[in-house]
Amino acid sequence: MVKDKIQYGKSIIDYELSYSERKTLGIKVHPDKCVQVIAPINTDSSEIKEKLRTKAAWILRQQDFFLSFHPITPARRYVGGETHLYLGKQYRLKIMLGDKESVKLNGGRLEVTLNDLENKPKIKRLLQSWYKSKADVHFNKLFDDSLHVSEYLYDGAPTLKYRWMEKRWGSCDRNGTIHLNLELIKAPKTCIEYVIIHEMCHLAHLNHSSAFYKLLDKMYPNWGETKDRLERLMV
Ligand SMILES: [Zn+2]
Repeated sequence: MVKDKIQYGKSIIDYELSYSERKTLGIKVHPDKCVQVIAPINTDSSEIKEKLRTKAAWILRQQDFFLSFHPITPARRYVGGETHLYLGKQYRLKIMLGDKESVKLNGGRLEVTLNDLENKPKIKRLLQSWYKSKADVHFNKLFDDSLHVSEYLYDGAPTLKYRWMEKRWGSCDRNGTIHLNLELIKAPKTCIEYVIIHEMCHLAHLNHSSAFYKLLDKMYPNWGETKDRLERLMV
């Protein structure tokens, strides 16, 4: 496999090239936006580049699709009264003075206690670790509950990882690891479940081909509504 690139307008498309016994050029755009090109043996590289240029608009559209799948929550200021989401519900932030640091839900409020009301980075850190502790419970539970989906699709058990991500709700790699964005803990459980199942379907198809959507339709009917809900809520 070799790495190469083409220029198309202002965009550079990087791709991984390999050869196989086939008659036509195969192009796959993976959820991590990586482009994989499989060419017939003995095709020369200028011919490959020429073909890729004719497909460049399509490749960029595919890559864009993954990018559009991203959280757009505006920056929070970590001041009292501000709303913060948790599992699809809004909670008002209340910042309280105290020596023992804590974060807890109390009715419709999300109460953060610390010894310096003005320490915004600290408030942010406390909230993030609270969200992470909630994700530890809910992500793992929802993932385990969805494993029946992956049983059809994958030989072996997929693994779950999560972290704060900038641009995506989730991803799936070729080793069967599904990554979720910790931001998802702010979304309703149905939306988290949708992202998990979407990524599990990538265990069978590492692209957004029509075969992928056919599978997703089967595994999560009406996913479009849930995807819209997720995108509307996380504004
Ligand atoms: Zn996808």
